[in-house]
Amino acid sequence: MIIDIHTHTFPDSIAGSTLLKLQNLSHTRPFTDGTQRGLAASMALAGVDFSLVLPVATAPRQVCHINDTSARLNQEGGKEGILSFGCMHPDFSDWKEELARIARLGLKGIKLHPVYQNVDFDDPRYLRILDRCGELGLIVLTHAGLDVGFPGKVNCSPEMVLRAVEQVGPVTLILAHMGGWRCWDEVERLLPHTSVLLDTAFSLGIMAPLGDGYYGPSDLKLMDQDSFMGMVRAFGAHRILFGTDSPWGGQKEALEEIRRLPLTAQEQAAILGGNAQRLLELTL
Ligand SMILES: [Zn+2]
Repeated sequence: MIIDIHTHTFPDSIAGSTLLKLQNLSHTRPFTDGTQRGLAASMALAGVDFSLVLPVATAPRQVCHINDTSARLNQEGGKEGILSFGCMHPDFSDWKEELARIARLGLKGIKLHPVYQNVDFDDPRYLRILDRCGELGLIVLTHAGLDVGFPGKVNCSPEMVLRAVEQVGPVTLILAHMGGWRCWDEVERLLPHTSVLLDTAFSLGIMAPLGDGYYGPSDLKLMDQDSFMGMVRAFGAHRILFGTDSPWGGQKEALEEIRRLPLTAQEQAAILGGNAQRLLELTL
């Protein structure tokens, strides 16, 4: 089973404008049109069985609406293999009740984005969310490290993650982009002994530039095979989850990239879907 644990889609009415805005911010090229239909087509082409959509609340007032929409998507979309997490914003006043509601709605977890939400990951407002998610059995997947659209801004560094997990109760925490985008040395130094999981989104190989001349060739390089394998060995393949950041990564391309790695068949199967299948309790 192939599961992409890190994807994004937008409502049809705003997909076009949102993608345009984000691609101009990140100077990278999208691989789908940003709609659910576009993601479904990408999955069919790549042979992905399930994609998990990760919605981000950039303002507290969006939280309930996004969670309702995500729950609806899970009810309707399960058949297409497109599922969604919920979301939370650190400044949402009713965070405690809303997290309980998220669990009641049957959502398996939430997405946090400390850069877009402009709060550090070890801030008490995130710590209380992590604690509560742990109690409710909700998975937390957070953006980690730099963001391609916000040069220089890090609100979830490996150090902040370490300080956070040391202060909260047990919680299933997935760090996107192999633990911290472009902070990979620190991730490998500081986090292997914790219980965090990593997703592979937008971390291996090279970025797909928009073609506007913003990036030089060396700017496009992400992790090479050796550094990536170093991370897999440091954390163990059972803690690595396949993700693409679609539309910002191509599912077909990312799958090929993982399949080229010197992994055992068992490790490859775990990374591409086995680990996520267990975590999300999915069956075909
Ligand atoms: Zn993402």
